[in-house]
Amino acid sequence: MGAVAGHGVGAPAEAPELASTVQGDGQAERTQGKHAEAILKLEPPQAAFTLKYRGEAKRMQGKYAEAIVHFDRALKLAPQDADALKFRGEAKRMQGKYAEAIVDFDQALKLAPQDADALKCRGEAKCEQGKHAEAMVDFEKALKLEPGSLESQPDSEAMWFYNRYFDLRSLSGQISPSSRWAIVGAGPVGLCLALSLAEYQMDAGFAEPREPLITVYESRWLVPSEGGGWKRNPDPAVRARDQVVTVQDAVVQLFSEAVQTCFEGERVWLHSRNVPVAEIEDKLLCKAQEAPFSRYIRIEKSERLTRRKDQAEFIQALPADFIVAADGAASLSRRAFPSKFVCPHSRGFSTEEQRIRLAETENGYAHADHVLGIILQQDARPPQEQSLNVIFTLAQNVYLLNSQKGSKGFLNIRVTKEEYDEIYRATGQRGCSFGSPIQLKLEESLDADDVNAFHKVKLPWLRRRIEEGLKLFGMRTEHMLGITGFQLMPAYVQHFCHVMQGEGRSDQQRVLLLAGDAAISHHFWPGRGLNTGLKSVKAIVRMLKSPTVAEGLRRYNSFMTKLRVREMQGRSGSMMPKSLQLDWGSQLLTNSGNGHQQMLLDCWHSAKTTDDLIPAAKTSEATNRDSFLRTCKLWRDFLERQPGWSHDAVTDDLLQTRIMTAVAKPKALELHMMVRSAFDNGPGRASGWPTSRQGGREVDPADDQHWA
Ligand SMILES: Cc1cc2nc3c(=O)[nH]c(=O)nc-3n(C[C@H](O)[C@H](O)[C@H](O)COP(=O)(O)OP(=O)(O)OC[C@H]3O[C@@H](n4cnc5c(N)ncnc54)[C@H](O)[C@@H]3O)c2cc1C
Repeated sequence: MGAVAGHGVGAPAEAPELASTVQGDGQAERTQGKHAEAILKLEPPQAAFTLKYRGEAKRMQGKYAEAIVHFDRALKLAPQDADALKFRGEAKRMQGKYAEAIVDFDQALKLAPQDADALKCRGEAKCEQGKHAEAMVDFEKALKLEPGSLESQPDSEAMWFYNRYFDLRSLSGQISPSSRWAIVGAGPVGLCLALSLAEYQMDAGFAEPREPLITVYESRWLVPSEGGGWKRNPDPAVRARDQVVTVQDAVVQLFSEAVQTCFEGERVWLHSRNVPVAEIEDKLLCKAQEAPFSRYIRIEKSERLTRRKDQAEFIQALPADFIVAADGAASLSRRAFPSKFVCPHSRGFSTEEQRIRLAETENGYAHADHVLGIILQQDARPPQEQSLNVIFTLAQNVYLLNSQKGSKGFLNIRVTKEEYDEIYRATGQRGCSFGSPIQLKLEESLDADDVNAFHKVKLPWLRRRIEEGLKLFGMRTEHMLGITGFQLMPAYVQHFCHVMQGEGRSDQQRVLLLAGDAAISHHFWPGRGLNTGLKSVKAIVRMLKSPTVAEGLRRYNSFMTKLRVREMQGRSGSMMPKSLQLDWGSQLLTNSGNGHQQMLLDCWHSAKTTDDLIPAAKTSEATNRDSFLRTCKLWRDFLERQPGWSHDAVTDDLLQTRIMTAVAKPKALELHMMVRSAFDNGPGRASGWPTSRQGGREVDPADDQHWA
């Protein structure tokens, strides 16, 4: 919570009960709800101050959008109310709208320049924007107005950010090209960083270092190769890396030609290429072990640790000046240093993960998205044109195919929470996360046209959902290699480096940086995880050109914060609103004991005009088919207008045949789900992916404005 919510200083005398509830201890948290309820009953309902405190009560409940509506109305009646402006700014900050929040704080401070609380709020918003130096000016002004006010609020975000800033300021000296680097994790981000650092050292004139100054530690997927060095462990059980990722051309072009060759792939989407992530890693690993890179980089297999304490000791003992944790979303390195990368008092903080869970920062987000990943087997020939695959994927939010040649990669299927829980129960699986997905066994093959097939297997709805997805992209069950399932919970850190002063055996000052998924992990539907990770690599290399270590880290931190706001709140957030969640709950689940299944089938045969999924699917089949065809045509027209779209034209006839007539046409039920899942992007724009919420300028490490 921010300064306003965490402490009473923000609440003036008009609402003494509000002020008395927010003294910042556990009691306040417990009573806050009751007082918020009382405030919601304040009279008269249309008075400016009632609206203001109702808004504040909503804000305390995490209902930011509703709070802002109240503040807007209060400010219409009393535009000079500095508190209402401050409260609205805080609600906007919690929504991740930092620039808008700062406009409100600026205005509040014009009206009440002595308001130390507003200064702290603005400082926090500036930290969240990566403008740490400006934030410190605000914090210091606040301290002058209320000496000791930060220290008296040790559990405020302002205090936490303030301390992180002082950690950075304590660093002395310049970044030397002969610094030693340790990179934990040989995923695409760790390996790409090693190559980029080596190139930096070569450019700095280190023709023949006595020994490599860059070491990459990987604990999972390496085995010794016959000719010396390391290669991927061929045992698929060791590390399933079947996803095909879309990497943006603009991101790949940030790197040297040598590195770019590791990202060659098929052109499927606009301005990008599709590459299996395992192929990227294999090429990067090979390159790191070839001359000239092998003289600069050492690869080591590290012990697979599981306890935070052991990982902290491992990191503290590494012989390096800079350590980069690129050990993925579940990063043990991040978790080994509690409260260093995330303020434990921030909304959405997860103690277990040591990250902020995006979904928990805003009341309007769903807790998690639930996805099945169908691992596909590559066909000799693409089962369907990639142009159609892209169009069908963009036109809805249930199925996502990201593949090479139309069949290597993953078919992803979003399911509801209830469906996901049912899969758990039926398969006897325990909780799983993105990092360790569940693995399902395949059922025996089914006749896809047989509606009574619902009866035949344990999870008939699941079988059918998968088959329909495969069919949409021209495939059959024979293309399936396996099924995984995971919860998607986008998450991030607030601070991207930790100064290790005299920690462990060394009394030297060293720095631990976070990069890649360890720092920011996405909702992968809009496909930007690796792109973000590669930008963090480029930012680390750019950091090396800063005049001092402190300045370099400040800039890295600031850049990463801007990138996080763009990618998390901007892109991953677009997939998380409750309004975009699939809404058929448990309607299709098997419940053989009480005849529920039979009821569903009866329902299917005698459709009623209710909003229930099955009857609605039946009655609206013709409309749905027209609507899906129209949407696909809009996407086709949009894509074919774009420079760089590299596919043959998709004719109306082809679309018509696939959606309306051919055997491959989607069944009424799944078609209904797809149409229902589509996001309305506004008049004249194709519905489907929430692209109207995802647009905007990219944050680019080569852009001086983003680097400032
Ligand atoms: C289905 C799916 C589709 C995706 N699609 C896209 C897409 O289209 N576009 C896109 O940009 N991104 C996409 N992503 C995301 C992308 O795959 C990740 O963002 C990317 O792999 C992150 O790279 P990383 O190197 O940071 O982490 P990882 O790839 O997770 O690598 C981390 C490495 O660290 C190692 N490691 C872990 N712990 C330790 C330890 N304690 N010590 C030493 N080593 C350790 C691991 O073995 C691993 O090699 C997708 C992801 C999925 C699952």
